[in-house]
Amino acid sequence: MADVLFTNVRILDGTGQNPYSGSVRVQGNRIRQVGRSLAPVAAGDAAVIDGAGATLMPGMCEAHTHFSWNDAATLAGIQTMPLEEHVLWCAKVAKRYLEAGWTSCVGAACAKPRLDVVTRNAIDSGQIPGPRYLAASQEITVPGGLGDETLPHLPFPEFSFGVNVNSADEMRKAVRLFLKYGVDSIKLNLSGDNFTPQAPAGTAWMTDAEVAAAMEEVRMRGKRGTAHARSAASVKQALRHGIDVIYHASYSDTESLDLLEAKKDRVFVAPGIAILYAMLNEAEPWGITKAKATAMGYQHEWDAALESLRAMHRRGIRVLPGGDYGFAFTPHGQNARDLEFFVKYLGFTPMEAIRSATLYGGQIMMRPDELGAVKDGYLADLLLVDGDPLADLSILRDPKRILAVMKDGAFAKHPEVAARPAWGRAA
Ligand SMILES: [Zn+2]
Repeated sequence: MADVLFTNVRILDGTGQNPYSGSVRVQGNRIRQVGRSLAPVAAGDAAVIDGAGATLMPGMCEAHTHFSWNDAATLAGIQTMPLEEHVLWCAKVAKRYLEAGWTSCVGAACAKPRLDVVTRNAIDSGQIPGPRYLAASQEITVPGGLGDETLPHLPFPEFSFGVNVNSADEMRKAVRLFLKYGVDSIKLNLSGDNFTPQAPAGTAWMTDAEVAAAMEEVRMRGKRGTAHARSAASVKQALRHGIDVIYHASYSDTESLDLLEAKKDRVFVAPGIAILYAMLNEAEPWGITKAKATAMGYQHEWDAALESLRAMHRRGIRVLPGGDYGFAFTPHGQNARDLEFFVKYLGFTPMEAIRSATLYGGQIMMRPDELGAVKDGYLADLLLVDGDPLADLSILRDPKRILAVMKDGAFAKHPEVAARPAWGRAA
């Protein structure tokens, strides 16, 4: 593969340092030379992409991804999609994420046991285009908890969105099966959710014995535990058992914040606040008026989440964008909204929001020394963006402004300029 040389670009390197003009050479799948000057660079036989002043930044990481959520309005609407259609859906969504600039995604649960694993494997083997992907298990829950969608007269596991467990032994069995399938992480629903009124956000029904059994298996195989944890008690339960990826963390108290801060070099929080925002402000077409959402507890949770997440950000706890896109009210494709929400509601600067999506993205992908920044030797996951995301983060969710996407040194979205030979149009 010939080298690729991006010239005349404004480099926003993801580390938080101010952008500078220069050039970037990609050799194979690595960034090999980051030049800090606009002086002409010897191209050799590299394919030259003249950025014409566009921004070159690291590919972004979606920290809380559900490829298999199919833009339905209910958990059952996701779960009851037949398997064959569901596999194709995941492949389609994976391609969309990559082309939108998400070169890495952290799976946060899938709707059927092997959907995430199969999607990841197909991406890694080159069968389908998609981001670097960490595959999750289904959500593991307890009867009556978030994700238990079985009906009294249809108690069959296939009808359930999540996997129900009733003891430490059942937990071990479920976790071992997912580990056998090859997941990168096991997802535990430690708290409920206001989306499911029978098990709202404040509930935490999984026992410590069950969580401990899960994490013992996870550690034994060198994998990772992740948690749906909205309440302060569930966040503390996650931390108590060594779960480092915490989804939501809407409610906090001083103790949970202190515990998070004490582990801030290990812990990631991916709150997925878009779903809270959407339920309160945008879900009326699906029958969820503001009054109904408020009655479900969303206003209370939104207010608490903003306070909690601002406190986490102030304390230097890594809060990452992404989360719970794939419902009717938060359809796939809007994911970069999170960066704007972080600035508008959580006290981030635009630079901090970008750093969360890039540098911290490499960290949550467990490749902190080679992913998430425009640096010599790093993996060549790069975006060419029309305009300045620091001045207007919304350009990151406009497909037309994402001029090119490179993953692992290969273009997933080709820059238009590359289609035109330098000497002009072909006859
Ligand atoms: Zn989620």
